[in-house]
Amino acid sequence: MITNDIQGIGMTSQRTRDRLVERLREKGIRNEYVLEVMRTTPRHIFVDEAMAHRAYEDTALPIGHGQTISQPYIVARMTEILLEGGIPDVVLEVGTGSGYQSAILSRLVPKVYTVERISALLQKARDAHRKLGLLNVFSKHSDGSWGWQPNAPYTAIMVTAAPRAVPPSLLEQLAVGGRMVIPVGNLDGAQELKVYTRTAEGIEECTMEHVHFVPLLDGAVR
Ligand code: SAH
Repeated sequence: MITNDIQGIGMTSQRTRDRLVERLREKGIRNEYVLEVMRTTPRHIFVDEAMAHRAYEDTALPIGHGQTISQPYIVARMTEILLEGGIPDVVLEVGTGSGYQSAILSRLVPKVYTVERISALLQKARDAHRKLGLLNVFSKHSDGSWGWQPNAPYTAIMVTAAPRAVPPSLLEQLAVGGRMVIPVGNLDGAQELKVYTRTAEGIEECTMEHVHFVPLLDGAVR
């Protein structure tokens, strides 16, 4: 079975993706644009071939280097939250990982910048983006806690690894009217998904659900 081709067959087929989207709907995802993009974006392209048959389970999966591709529900939920105030024109993602989340974003917003600290993961993510013909994702190998200053400010920022406290640089790179969605907390599972909105007066904070992410780490590595 060729599981690496874009359309997929069997456990990686369109029918399997349709079922995943039904599950996301049952779990409370309401944004139809997000659901449609999840229905038509192959997730199996973003995991190793040996893992492809599990790509449409609603779970996080290992992608090597101790990292994971996020659970589809979390990808959908964070994307939905980011889009709540309207379509942001430029998004920064911190933690490219497999590249799946940035692929989803790239089909919903004009421009996506994404930063990853592990070079080997970033190379694979870029290959997957190329394979899907995504031309509006721009990526960089670096520690994303510092954001990506030359392209700032961002109308939206999504962080897909959890710091203990919000990195100040990221808040600084958020445009007025922009929003950042970020898991904050410890590795022991006591993380909360937070939404920060920059208004003309300052920063507003809102706490969403409990989540479980890999930690945001310092420095870039090969
Ligand atoms: N959005 C990813 C989720 C990957 S898990 C996906 O769709 O697959 C989180 C990723 O954040 C990991 O790849 C990890 O290496 C990366 N990461 C952790 N700390 C980081 C930092 N300071 N800067 C950039 N990336 C970081």
